[in-house]
Amino acid sequence: MKSLSATAAVLSVALASLANVSDLSATDSGKSASTIDRLYRVDCGHSLANDESVWTPGENKGKSIEFSSTCYLIQHGADYLMWDTGVPESTIGDPKGWSTLPSLIVYHLDRTISSQLAAIGLKPADVDYVLVSHTHGDHIGNIGLFPDATVVVQQAEYQWINSPPPSDPNLNTLVTLARKLLGQPRRLELVTGDIDLFRDGSVKLISTPGHTPGSQSLMVHLPKSGYVILSGDVAHLEDNFERDIVPALNVDKSESVASMDRIKKIMAEYDAQLFINHDKHQADQLKLLPDYYD
Ligand SMILES: [Zn+2]
Repeated sequence: MKSLSATAAVLSVALASLANVSDLSATDSGKSASTIDRLYRVDCGHSLANDESVWTPGENKGKSIEFSSTCYLIQHGADYLMWDTGVPESTIGDPKGWSTLPSLIVYHLDRTISSQLAAIGLKPADVDYVLVSHTHGDHIGNIGLFPDATVVVQQAEYQWINSPPPSDPNLNTLVTLARKLLGQPRRLELVTGDIDLFRDGSVKLISTPGHTPGSQSLMVHLPKSGYVILSGDVAHLEDNFERDIVPALNVDKSESVASMDRIKKIMAEYDAQLFINHDKHQADQLKLLPDYYD
């Protein structure tokens, strides 16, 4: 398959503290008979923003909007993977919520990831990989729960957060948090482009820059449900995805549109469904752990 080309390269982080970094080389098996076993949606919070037009420029000025925050747990044989880690667990029970952009959006968390994993007999230490869509705080807020997992981030994203501090104080807050949280894992794997994680076509990272420089999406292959793409923040709302609408906060508008178009092509090629992380209307209709897709 052409769109998931075998051009990706892997750069392991050259830090003395990192050990046992696995070799995530990019191979492309195209459509595959191999599948993951289960896909669980994990409730990773929700948020209220006071101006929808930030996500839908030119429309919905001053209208409030509620977003979901969704993580996923993937079972692949004996391996467990988390896709994103959600709003920080310290937010739980705080009526004021948590935010890195408090004048615009506030996040809340009703239940911890740990308690949701416990509901199916797992603990955070059972998670082998944490795949990071991008480094915004509502996606990496609980990386600290998985200190021994291999954390997989795009090289471009890691470079971005480790560039000199931006002059925008809002961005500075985000970047400082991301640097702190991504400093925690013992095994950090930096990847470039698309990655076929197990070289069997069942779990594929798809590079979708635009929201941030190293944003990525994830496609999994299930025995009954077929191919499912987990959006990351390639789009926030189904309508945005359908109409190529780019949020004002995205770092690159044309890359954002190109990434949405790329996902559309892959959806057509693989007959894949798209689960959009922050689209609360859609997320509320999806199965939630302990229920799962298989
Ligand atoms: Zn997000």
